[in-house]
Amino acid sequence: LDKKVKQNNWEEGNFINYKKMSENLAIVRSRLNRPLTYAEKILYSHLDDPHGQEIERGVSYLKLRPDRVACQDATAQMAILQFMSAGMPSVANPTTVHCDHLIEAQVGGPKDLERAISINKEVYDFLASACAKYNIGFWRPGSGIIHQILLENYAFPGGLLIGTDSHTPNAGGLGMCAIGVGGADAVDVMANLPWELKAPKVIGVKLTGQLSGWTSPKDIILKVAGILTVKGGTGAIVEYHGPGTNSISCTGMATIGNMGAEIGATTSVFPFNDRMYDYLKATKRSDIGDFARSYAKELREDEGAEYDQLIELNLSELEPHINGPFTPDLATPISKFSEAAKENNWPDELKAGLIGSCTNSSYEDMSRAASIARDALEHGVKAKSAFFVTPGSEQIRATIARDGQLQTFEEFGGIVLANACGPCIGQWDRQDVKKGEANSIISSYNRNFTGRNDGNPATHSFVTSPDLVVAMSIAGSLSFNPLTDKLKDKDGNEFQLTPPTGEGLPSRGYDPGNNTYQAPPADRTTVNVQVSPSSDRLQVLQPFNAWDGKDALDMPILIKAKGKTTTDHISMAGPWLKYRGHLDNISNNMLIGAINEANGEANKVRNSTNDEWDAVPAVARDYKAKGIKWVVIGDWNYGEGSSREHAALEPRHLGGLAIITRSFARIHETNLKKQGMLPLTFADPADYDKIKPDDRIDLLCTELAVGKPLTMRVHPKDGETFEVKLNQTFNEAQIEWFKNGSALNTMAKSAK
Ligand code: SF4
Repeated sequence: LDKKVKQNNWEEGNFINYKKMSENLAIVRSRLNRPLTYAEKILYSHLDDPHGQEIERGVSYLKLRPDRVACQDATAQMAILQFMSAGMPSVANPTTVHCDHLIEAQVGGPKDLERAISINKEVYDFLASACAKYNIGFWRPGSGIIHQILLENYAFPGGLLIGTDSHTPNAGGLGMCAIGVGGADAVDVMANLPWELKAPKVIGVKLTGQLSGWTSPKDIILKVAGILTVKGGTGAIVEYHGPGTNSISCTGMATIGNMGAEIGATTSVFPFNDRMYDYLKATKRSDIGDFARSYAKELREDEGAEYDQLIELNLSELEPHINGPFTPDLATPISKFSEAAKENNWPDELKAGLIGSCTNSSYEDMSRAASIARDALEHGVKAKSAFFVTPGSEQIRATIARDGQLQTFEEFGGIVLANACGPCIGQWDRQDVKKGEANSIISSYNRNFTGRNDGNPATHSFVTSPDLVVAMSIAGSLSFNPLTDKLKDKDGNEFQLTPPTGEGLPSRGYDPGNNTYQAPPADRTTVNVQVSPSSDRLQVLQPFNAWDGKDALDMPILIKAKGKTTTDHISMAGPWLKYRGHLDNISNNMLIGAINEANGEANKVRNSTNDEWDAVPAVARDYKAKGIKWVVIGDWNYGEGSSREHAALEPRHLGGLAIITRSFARIHETNLKKQGMLPLTFADPADYDKIKPDDRIDLLCTELAVGKPLTMRVHPKDGETFEVKLNQTFNEAQIEWFKNGSALNTMAKSAK
């Protein structure tokens, strides 16, 4: 294990550290003294402190040291801006950025890409220059979708990766523990802070039997999603094991890991096997495959490892499935699908079929799909539905262009879109139906929530394997079952489609296509990060001010929020996402969704300096301009929803000092601490009711100490001043964050 094997073919000096991992594991083993699951082995071998770390599945918070970070272009903007504000010369851990989310599908690959490059120029220029400056690998627009690029180039068995995108678990197909996180977590790892994760539970899925015919790897996760539902994987890693894993290609396992995000799982993992070795070899990484073989004993579960829940699936009996509409866990086997469509009045005519995306873009997927299209063409028929292909990467596009699958799709009537997310994330300029018109579409994507693909809430979006997408697109109908039903050829004669076939890996090797990678230059000192001062989409962050060392007296309550206050209420998405790289502009959405207890309305609060009612961000700005600190009072589980760091950055930017609630969603609470704010909870939750929106607040910040409550003095408009005790969960290090103004200020200070 002493060998020096590089993590990938793009970077020098970043090695796979199986030796360190096995040492860490030995320490943990001697402490726990029980067989471990594979998921546990990966996580525990990346512990920051294997000796001292408390380890209990579902309970402890693990401090981990991931091997890599990856960001997509939408989330990378704020992550990198924050990292820049720490003032460090380069990222502390290997990081890549991938341009895939901002490309709209309109007419087809090259034109759409050209248009996106012009519309998003300032964002791409910023990302390209910041990556060059801080030693980050940059994958230009057109390179492909983050998860496909990671699988092709960066994933390795036993590694730990975090990515600022929910489908990061795609890399589980190559035996990696790959977890989707928010930007704040990515920044921690870039800046060399340990990354915290609640020790996941482990759900075992034992696979027996073998896939065949029309059944594909996608059907495994469609079935599992039906069993576990969209919430069933929450807080857990799904660990596939058993003899059935050997009948699934590496890219097929990636598909399963990818869509594991739909059941809320932290990630999904597969044990290292020969199929992974073959894929590593095909992607020019035999050295990694050989190295993994020498460490293979630890790249799978221990004999007798126990799972918190166990599901068994016999692949020989598994039917193809179609999931949806509107939710990915509504799983229907193909034999029952036509009936279900009639019963539920799903529009029978299939308007569009879409294959590809990060979920199902492998060479195998494309070859199988093309074999069905070719079968139809040989009978003189084409797709009846509109048909789109989204190659997952430039390498896949170039390889299927060379080997003929792409031409088959075009002959079949397909439009080949850019190597990007496109319609999967609503980047689809769809013209064939009006908003509000009920219609059906089917894709090989992973997510099908209302409006996701085309912004039309009446679109019934179904997800399935690429094989079934092609077959159903030929029929143009939801009632078609290719396993049993016949189609008509060009002369009106009946025929049945032959089950798909296709090579798993290209026998002539992959064609890399156009070079779309930008490596950081050797001399990075002269690189200037490009942010136009007049940009409305990007803004360099200024470090937040350090705490003034004093108690905060006579503060107004900006808003006393009533009921649910999610991160969406605090920092809305939708059109605001355009400004995610511009803190001042996006702050105009701060708390606009929260309900003010004073009037039961959203985005209308009283300005205590002039008694006028105004929008929440406007009042906060006015206080800030007048040098007045303010607080927010919140209800239960404040900040639930997502890990969106903007929900913590905005109140800090607009001059907030503390958020005082009955309770917090944990990630949001930590995010607030990271930005130098005080998340505090009522020691007696009933005190929430004693606070009125126009009370004035003193906070005795000088009392802040580990494990000690803080005093809040409340001055009602009419009535006696009273005191309330507030709890807090700061540890020593986090108190430094508060004192220095933020976690990043603290990192910058210690880096000097
Ligand atoms: Fe996310 Fe879809 Fe892009 Fe995959 S293709 S990264 S699921 S938006």
